[in-house]
Amino acid sequence: MATSAELHARRMDAVPRGIGHATLIYAKRAKNAEIWSEDGRRYIDFGAGIAVVNTGHQHPRIVEAVKRQLEDFSHVCFQVTPHENYVALAERLNAIAPISGPAKTMLASTGAEAVENAVKVARIFTGRPGIISFSGGFHGRTHMGMALTGKAVPYKKGFGPFPADIYNVAFPNLYHGTSSGESIKALKALFKYQADPSTIAGIIIEPVQGEGGFNIAPFDFLDALRSLCDEHGIVLIADEIQTGFARTGKLFALEHAGIKADVVTLAKGLAGGLPLSAIVGRADIMDASGPGGLGGTYAGNPVACAAAHTVLDIIADEDLCARADAIGSIIQGRCRELADRSNLNCIGDVRGLGAMCAVEFVKDVKSGEPAPELTGAVLKAANERGLILLSCGTYGNVIRFLPPLTASDEIVREGMDIFEASLTEAVSRLQ
Ligand code: PMP
Repeated sequence: MATSAELHARRMDAVPRGIGHATLIYAKRAKNAEIWSEDGRRYIDFGAGIAVVNTGHQHPRIVEAVKRQLEDFSHVCFQVTPHENYVALAERLNAIAPISGPAKTMLASTGAEAVENAVKVARIFTGRPGIISFSGGFHGRTHMGMALTGKAVPYKKGFGPFPADIYNVAFPNLYHGTSSGESIKALKALFKYQADPSTIAGIIIEPVQGEGGFNIAPFDFLDALRSLCDEHGIVLIADEIQTGFARTGKLFALEHAGIKADVVTLAKGLAGGLPLSAIVGRADIMDASGPGGLGGTYAGNPVACAAAHTVLDIIADEDLCARADAIGSIIQGRCRELADRSNLNCIGDVRGLGAMCAVEFVKDVKSGEPAPELTGAVLKAANERGLILLSCGTYGNVIRFLPPLTASDEIVREGMDIFEASLTEAVSRLQ
């Protein structure tokens, strides 16, 4: 049996270093909220493959649905011989996505591809080029995804030139000193100084920024964006790739704000670990392209569609929105207790919606200066103690908690015990 260290040496020879790793734990087997490594160690998984296995690893109903579909056919290409489970999934997503009026859905394979297609439909529908995104936002690693992403290193630096007509505005983040009003002012200034609104096809926003640090867009800001888009005929695109599918305690994060988008991008939690993404939008927008303008060889893979149907069934049958709230309150409760411990003096903020929770580490609470070293030390200590955690945030000083929504309270508490021990160890090591 090869160890993780041996496998990692082979990986360094065979795979480019540009693909980063949150851990050096090589996975052998996973079940619900646990992963066992090649070294035979057990880990609690608070990453869920970056918010993908909301329904847990190897949910028996998903395994069964995938096996059943594999026995019939694994790929025919929807553009060659269409299949029912694609159409049925589109029907289900049209019925539940936060879009006003009749909706249509196209399927793709990755989140970045969903973002690319959202921009394509917004442009062809409006006949305009401009797209506005926000600082700290993350929208993928394709050229359009990079252009829209609001973090230079490591996502953009050296990879340009990027597509033109992309504008970036400060995300409203009160903890980092930007109010909703200031962001709206920046947007209006952009309309005045850089690009008339009549040239803007779309505004893309994550209702809760994922990679950017689990920053929750204030609901009044989303409301103001909706009004601005209505006023100027701009397509409002909600990137719900990380927030989707019960993670925030509702099927989609926009539901918290009571706002409808014109187009929504979905991926990650959609198919419980199989590569599938979706672009759900107002029917008139989605129909703007002529036949052949949209699609992809693997887009809407039938095995992934079978998994997605089962994910939606499981979310309803196991009431995973309620579980997200219950898990989130355990995590946030423990984090707030730690934040209140004055001897730690390193948690600047605790935030979250449902089971999309995060803590922001600072050098000291008064200065609020980001503490990426401490964050790294906590992640390392957690790994050593058997917990997989992910960081995020513009300054690399945020730890996000993303357990599967099928995790039991016991395992979430066990994970939080490890987190607390890891934090205490990291703080004393760095003092
Ligand atoms: N948008 C958001 C909000 C994301 O979180 C991600 C992935 N982290 C993407 C887009 C890109 O998805 P993918 O990696 O599947 O291309």
